[in-house]
Amino acid sequence: MVISVLVDMPAHSHRAGPLSYLSDQALAAGTLVRVPLGTRELLGVVWDDAAARANAAIGGPSEPACDPAKLRPVAAVMDLPPLSLNWRTLIDFAARYYQRSAGEVALAALPPQLRDLSVTQLGRRLNKPLPKKSKDSSISSSSSSSMSMSMSHIDSQDIPAGTDEPVDEVALSAEQSGAIAQFKAQKGPFLLFGATGSGKTEVFMHCTADLLAQSVDAQVLVMVPEINLTPQLEDRFRARFCPQYGTAVVVSMHSGMTPAQRLKSWLAAHSGAARIVLGTRMAVFASMPHLQLIIVDEEHDPSYKSHEGARYSARDLAVYRGRLEDARVMLGSATPSLESWHHSRPVADGGRYVRLLMPSRIGPHAVLPRVLRVDMNHQPRRCVISPPLLDAITQRIARSEQSLVFLNRRGYAPVLHCADCGWKSECTCCSAYRVFHKIDRSLRCHHCGATAPVPRACPACGNPDIAPMGRGTEQLEEHLAELLAAVTRPDGLPVRIVRIDADSTRHKGALESQLAQVHSGQVDVLVGTQMIAKGHDFRRITLVAAVNPDNALFSSDFRAPERLFGLLMQAAGRAGRDASMAGSSEMWVQTFYPTHPLFAALTRYDYPAFAQSQLAERQMATMPPFGFQALVRAEARTQEAAQFFLNHASTAAQALPDAPQRLARITLYPAVPMSIQRINYVERAQMLVESLSRTALQQFLADWQTVLHQSGSHPQCKGLIRWAIDVDPLLI
Ligand code: ADP
Ligand code: ZN
Ligand code: ZN
Repeated sequence: MVISVLVDMPAHSHRAGPLSYLSDQALAAGTLVRVPLGTRELLGVVWDDAAARANAAIGGPSEPACDPAKLRPVAAVMDLPPLSLNWRTLIDFAARYYQRSAGEVALAALPPQLRDLSVTQLGRRLNKPLPKKSKDSSISSSSSSSMSMSMSHIDSQDIPAGTDEPVDEVALSAEQSGAIAQFKAQKGPFLLFGATGSGKTEVFMHCTADLLAQSVDAQVLVMVPEINLTPQLEDRFRARFCPQYGTAVVVSMHSGMTPAQRLKSWLAAHSGAARIVLGTRMAVFASMPHLQLIIVDEEHDPSYKSHEGARYSARDLAVYRGRLEDARVMLGSATPSLESWHHSRPVADGGRYVRLLMPSRIGPHAVLPRVLRVDMNHQPRRCVISPPLLDAITQRIARSEQSLVFLNRRGYAPVLHCADCGWKSECTCCSAYRVFHKIDRSLRCHHCGATAPVPRACPACGNPDIAPMGRGTEQLEEHLAELLAAVTRPDGLPVRIVRIDADSTRHKGALESQLAQVHSGQVDVLVGTQMIAKGHDFRRITLVAAVNPDNALFSSDFRAPERLFGLLMQAAGRAGRDASMAGSSEMWVQTFYPTHPLFAALTRYDYPAFAQSQLAERQMATMPPFGFQALVRAEARTQEAAQFFLNHASTAAQALPDAPQRLARITLYPAVPMSIQRINYVERAQMLVESLSRTALQQFLADWQTVLHQSGSHPQCKGLIRWAIDVDPLLI
């Protein structure tokens, strides 16, 4: 009989549908097989008709009906239970929504080692425990039999003792109990809006414990944004659940694991033996046949968005998957994404998520530092560290306390700025700032494409010294060293400054050793980028200073303020972690815009107020979550080819049948160079597509795929290297 099989064919990754093969036995959809393609043999997934149709609908020609005599037989069938209908539907949805082929998405969602193993090798893997390789606890397993795919049940020693109520290690706070009661009473999805240290992780563990106790096979997926956050979380979940359920109950899934470890975790989740899967964004595709709860911690984090292949948002897919599988979904954050915040508005206003509130911090972290704004308009011209801030840092040094000085430099497109009069390179046509392109010294609007040469002097006041906002950490470190040269520590030694950023931590172990220096108290001032504001627990830091956060207020990226606010909230949490010093902790913000609503909300740590002001702006500009966006990015040998390709595809869209109706709800902007216009001799351009309707945007993109493909073969696109669609892009 003829069966459809999805494989990953990179060369045609936008269009490929399932391929047809012959099989002498009926194979259930979701079965993993090995199939010949050309001279190679590839891993494939048996796909059903519904899936094939869905795939064809995105513009990919499904396999033309061809002569069965010419079809090749399936090479081998893997001895694993088929992937579920839910899993296949998730893959189909992700492929359609993010405008990729189902084959690419499906195969990328499987552990890489599965592709390389023959059926015999896999068989051996299933029946033999892995050698204990590293100290990584995620691969240690109590027994090999929990790996056996032929067993649909789990080891008897792993079966829970059958307690109905979870035993918490701590007495829950009233806020925690309230959140849990709502979680039990309602269907969700939930947004757990809880301050840092309010005990969100405790709530996650409690809800997990509840589900595991209620049913013998329930599975829970817990997602975190970054690999380096997994060990901490894994330790807490292991400590909580392994004593009762055995060590095999928790597995991790992230790209920092070896291929063998990843395969092992995946198989454990797929068989149902692992009841708790902890992972980064890729884990959203984990095969979990009894999935009942998905937790997305730090749901606002941009790391949930993939930036290669299918550019999916794991947070958004988690919500979709929850609905699909009838599993509960809980997003958690102290500074939620504005999208999730908006979705969790009151039901009467159209809200779809249930907002759970835990505003209070527990225990020694209860007090947040006092926020002080330094009005830079009243400080000496062009000073980087204002005199009052320098004085405060010096006082900290005298008391053997530490200061953290950070720059939120990364990720923001540079905007030109006049330090004398406050002029900024605003676009005359848009509510956006034009971006400084060093390569040809131009100012370009990434929205409308308007371009102008960089003015010789400030157009407002004539000051010739206009410069991109922002300053590097290296310069800052040097500058601080000069300013503090005359200061000595109480022990008579000179002041020690350490810089932590992507450059200083490039070598393996560098970050750890730098952090160890901070913890041991050798360091007086820590200088760095946002990477130091996250997650680390610095006990002796009593001063946190954001030196120049203004660039994010006026970034061409409309999400920059949202990120800045989250970052400042997080950074504030670094100060005064040691209870004895908490009282004197301060958060300093140097700004030319001290009355900006963002900073006003920050002084009260008032996320809702900040969100309200931002959402009002977004609504006026019909930006997400009020409008929907997609970006097509093109890479070519020349900027002309990249832009021609995009503009040509845009013009050609006007020639689609029913173009007036199709385009009525779509705005296609002209192609513009990306803010980092050239990387390694490759020119990059992008085109923004907007719509007020998600459906209209989806339909347009599906139709437009074919046009884009045709546009690529136009002679003037010579030198075009690749292009890709990014749906719901995070960086514009
Ligand atoms: P979050 O995830 O919101 O940052 P955590 O769950 O990590 O918060 O809790 C912060 C700290 O407070 C942890 O050390 C945790 O063990 C502790 N904690 C959480 N809930 C309670 C509670 N009900 N009673 C006492 N300590 C708690
Ligand atoms: Zn513009
Ligand atoms: Zn000026």
